[in-house]
Amino acid sequence: MVAGISGHICDSCIGQAHDIAREETSQKATENLESSLTLLKPSEVKAHIEQYVIGQDEAKKILSVAVYNHYKRLLQKVDEDEIEIEKSNVVLVGETGTGKTLMARTIARILNVPFCIADATILTEAGYVGEDVESILSRLLQAADYDVAAAERGIVFIDEIDKISRKSDNASITRDVSGEGVQQALLKLLEGSIVNVPPQGGRKHPEQKLISVNTRNILFICGGAFDGIERIITRRVKSKAIGFTSIKEDVAIDQGNLLQYINPADLRSFGLIPELIGRFPIISHLDPLDQSTLRRILTEPKNSLVKQYIKLFEMDGVKLSFDKSALDFIVDKAMEFKLGARGLRSICEAIMTDAMYEVPSDAKIKRLKITLDYAKQKFDKSKISQLKVA
Ligand code: ADP
Repeated sequence: MVAGISGHICDSCIGQAHDIAREETSQKATENLESSLTLLKPSEVKAHIEQYVIGQDEAKKILSVAVYNHYKRLLQKVDEDEIEIEKSNVVLVGETGTGKTLMARTIARILNVPFCIADATILTEAGYVGEDVESILSRLLQAADYDVAAAERGIVFIDEIDKISRKSDNASITRDVSGEGVQQALLKLLEGSIVNVPPQGGRKHPEQKLISVNTRNILFICGGAFDGIERIITRRVKSKAIGFTSIKEDVAIDQGNLLQYINPADLRSFGLIPELIGRFPIISHLDPLDQSTLRRILTEPKNSLVKQYIKLFEMDGVKLSFDKSALDFIVDKAMEFKLGARGLRSICEAIMTDAMYEVPSDAKIKRLKITLDYAKQKFDKSKISQLKVA
């Protein structure tokens, strides 16, 4: 018996009540999912992503469709007919800081499913120093508050998937424990099987209690910069262009954005094993961010940097505004230092820190305008301005 303030409850009743509560929540989760699916068509998913991610139109479209199909598959009644819809795991290829993680995170938020980010670089084959691939699912379980049913419908983003490429084409005598070994280990996770997961992550050990998770309905989105894959793409595209059949074809290749021509063969040449590529039926690319996209990223997303600063100052009763020329200056610097979208934040911080320090303790200030001169002056004083332009 467990004593409460004005009563007692026995252990078996606790157990039963717990089961009832769990059943209720998991039923609610399915209902939620169904209602969100009937509500959200691919174009609507895309419209939601649009609020947070600028540009990257193709990736947005491809992801919206992949997610929609994935959850359609989830709602498919088993044995209804013989047609089994296959999983639509996705690989996103694009330079760092172009929005791969942001896109996956946004989708999870829209669908209200558990989401986790795992880094492929720390994974090793079982038995070696590093983390087992199962630890990825520990994170998902944590994100789902250990609700296994919810985790089994979640989304996992595996970052730096390119870092587990095979080290060389030669079959060498040493084992490739963080490359091909991890790829092999990932296979069973990706295609859908029951995996025993250590709840706290890390390495499995014999006395540990493991949680069984079915990965059949977990959507895996992988991201990677695939540094140097442009060379592989160029070689492939050029060799095609020289071939007899394509002589008459108009082969205008957009050299500035070669990633748009990526296909599974390139990933294979890069060092992913064919079995793994086979489990990623959908490949998409992200465009490099140009000046005008960076400018939009600064102001347009729902939680853009500029909106965040305005909110921060508003909480102190101060109306903050930015001159257009000051915003252009921030973007110019991010381009100049090749810092991409991530750099926007550090440049803004460099400019805004003094104001954020002084304004809250000066009750007289009700308005603050960031002009080009002010931005220049603060930026030139900051450490970041001493970066060498690469
Ligand atoms: P990665 O491609 O390396 O996964 P992230 O998605 O983590 O890059 O992007 C880093 C940050 O840059 C994001 O948190 C976001 O603020 C900003 N960002 C990058 N690309 C975009 C984009 N297309 N639209 C809006 N913000 C972006």
